[in-house]
Amino acid sequence: MATDQAQLTGETVELLQQLIRNRCVNDGTDDGAQEHRSAHLLRDELDGLGLDVELTESLPGRTSVVARYEGTDADAPALCLMGHTDVVPVSEDGWVNDPFGGELITSSDGVDEVWGRGAVDMLNLTSSMLVAFRDVVRTGVRYPGDIVFFGVADEEAGGINGALPIVQDQWDLVACDYVLTEYGGTPAHGADGTTVLMTTAEKGLGGRWVTVHGTPGHGSMPFGTDNALVKAAQIVTRIAEAEIAPRIDEQFRDRVHALDIDDATKGALLDPARVSEALASLPPDLARNTHSCCHMTFSANLLDAGTKTNTVPDRARLYVDVRMLPGDTQADVDRALTDIIGPDLLPSVEITPAYPVMQDAAPGSTTQTPLWDALTDAIRIAYPDARVVPSLVTGATDARFFRQRGVTAYGAGLLSNKVTLEEFLNRFHGHNERIDIESLDLTTRLWRNVFDRLWR
Ligand SMILES: [Zn+2]
Repeated sequence: MATDQAQLTGETVELLQQLIRNRCVNDGTDDGAQEHRSAHLLRDELDGLGLDVELTESLPGRTSVVARYEGTDADAPALCLMGHTDVVPVSEDGWVNDPFGGELITSSDGVDEVWGRGAVDMLNLTSSMLVAFRDVVRTGVRYPGDIVFFGVADEEAGGINGALPIVQDQWDLVACDYVLTEYGGTPAHGADGTTVLMTTAEKGLGGRWVTVHGTPGHGSMPFGTDNALVKAAQIVTRIAEAEIAPRIDEQFRDRVHALDIDDATKGALLDPARVSEALASLPPDLARNTHSCCHMTFSANLLDAGTKTNTVPDRARLYVDVRMLPGDTQADVDRALTDIIGPDLLPSVEITPAYPVMQDAAPGSTTQTPLWDALTDAIRIAYPDARVVPSLVTGATDARFFRQRGVTAYGAGLLSNKVTLEEFLNRFHGHNERIDIESLDLTTRLWRNVFDRLWR
């Protein structure tokens, strides 16, 4: 028997509140987030359904949880719902309500919202995924393909203690053909109807340490010295002023077409010769995001040099945050960075990757799949005239580990009209993170509707 929708939404709300209260705050340290609290909670939520629920941890307390509900046809594609359980730290001073209270609060304009860190990134999705998954098992509905629920640790610090080792070393646990994870589904109402963005691709991490060598000397006689800091400063300037060639591809064209800007500006953004000028005419936030969606980006973010106030430094260390477009390789990063640094300074520097595991940027997932069609149909139940548009996220998510294995992965979800895309993005890692109940209801329904359409 089908479960009443209000009951399901209530279950999502309650689970979200508990996940927020578990405060699995990922500060980037090995023992920081202690996701075992939420992994155990999620396991207990699936208790008594006759499923094998696996807990797995890479380090003590950094626990992820996986459950698989088998389909009736071993050849049918399997779908994994992946939600992370960790959240980023908060600055309590910026919040008007307890960031870990998980309180249900009615806003001044009458909107019921669950408050707390993780309410949009992404405990809202994680809780709705578990509830939709559990409802399928509980009601005994059988689909051809397996459905996997994956509550994963450590997304917010790059998945080193979560999705990365599990996908690499325990593939059988999470094996699937499709993944749905964060994030997508904010409706934007423009002149030509409603647009809903779903993530099909993300940028890759290509950070580099640049160590600059010089020759030490006395600070009282700087004339003609080989000062590592001066050379590092030149490199920083070159990075800031570098003209990186834009990549105007299908993905970018779709994105530009979905923007609420005039046609002349759209045309200029899609013309490699005029894109810089067009970006300069956009509002700063939009320009920044749009620029990042059509360029490999380089941002000099840390600089450390010198040991003593009266000594010309012989060493400087610079961190360059590099974000690759889908399909770019680590070799592309090295090539571009050495070009920027230039042949005169190159002999003085050493370039080293920022992380022990540096992967190429996975190509984006195609929309030519039954899952995309199922998602689009399911979204149109809530927004009948919606254009569902593939989109690139500039940050990194755990979807990349699956895309690198050739799995189709989309960032999905479905939000109400109570939140604009801008407001939604501001709540990501921002103060006063919260989600309205209608969005939780829409997202919980979305997963069920996708199941019904995927294996039709
Ligand atoms: Zn997230």
